[in-house]
Amino acid sequence: MSDTQQQDSAKETSRKHPPIVCYNVAELPQASVDRALLQRLADGKHEVVHELTIPPRDGRAWEVKAGQLWRITCTEGPQVADMNVWALHNPKRERFYTSKTRQLHASHLTVGDRLWSGFPYLRPLATITADTIAYGIDGDGAGVHDVIGSRCDPYTNWLLTGADMNVCCHSNLTRAVAGCGLGEEDVHDVLNVFMCTGFTRDTNQYFTKPSPVRPGDYIEFLAETDVLVAASTCPQGDVSVACGTGRAPTCYPLGVQVLQPSAEALAGWKPTEPVKYGGKHGL
Ligand SMILES: [Zn+2]
Repeated sequence: MSDTQQQDSAKETSRKHPPIVCYNVAELPQASVDRALLQRLADGKHEVVHELTIPPRDGRAWEVKAGQLWRITCTEGPQVADMNVWALHNPKRERFYTSKTRQLHASHLTVGDRLWSGFPYLRPLATITADTIAYGIDGDGAGVHDVIGSRCDPYTNWLLTGADMNVCCHSNLTRAVAGCGLGEEDVHDVLNVFMCTGFTRDTNQYFTKPSPVRPGDYIEFLAETDVLVAASTCPQGDVSVACGTGRAPTCYPLGVQVLQPSAEALAGWKPTEPVKYGGKHGL
């Protein structure tokens, strides 16, 4: 067999092979989630300890103590949010790592999925405890709450339009954390809350659909350690038009609540700890 024939044969073997899920998180002892805890949190009445509104086209940051919940609620109309999470006491080093989260769980997150921090920590910063949309995967392969995209930003906008734009998720998040001792360099890839996205079947290009979120819908997270959270109400609104088209869709605020569950609801729960890898890397 010639080299070309061997290469063709190898490609055909790959094409015909069924997909292999790389990480079966449900069976990993350090990574699986306590479903009974999630049920108790879903059933429980929680004390509201903090409330805020993220105005349209802006950003806000808030702290959540380990064992508390935060809930982002659609209050007036369809609106997506770009969310960042940092370890509260080490935000310059430990923050949400979307790539590993995507590999461990999926491109779109829902109840029971966790928001992992980066190396050398790699622990859940948060776990999703409620998702009233529960969209699943539609016929085009689209889902809601993705960890695919990054965030709308002034640099890509400049590439597309040649104009400065300071009202975008990257800049909104930068302003939101400016009072927390953090800067633009600390803003990172996001969880796209309420956003409906996928990849086109034919060209594998990132696409969006109008968000299905409606007033009353919410997504809720359990803080697995003390965290700082920031979110931007995207100036793309429900993202029903393509980026860079210059058309301004209707934008809405979003509500945020920090909630304290009862001790009974949290029974047996402990804050997460970084992985115990020795850190030598063979050096
Ligand atoms: Zn945005």
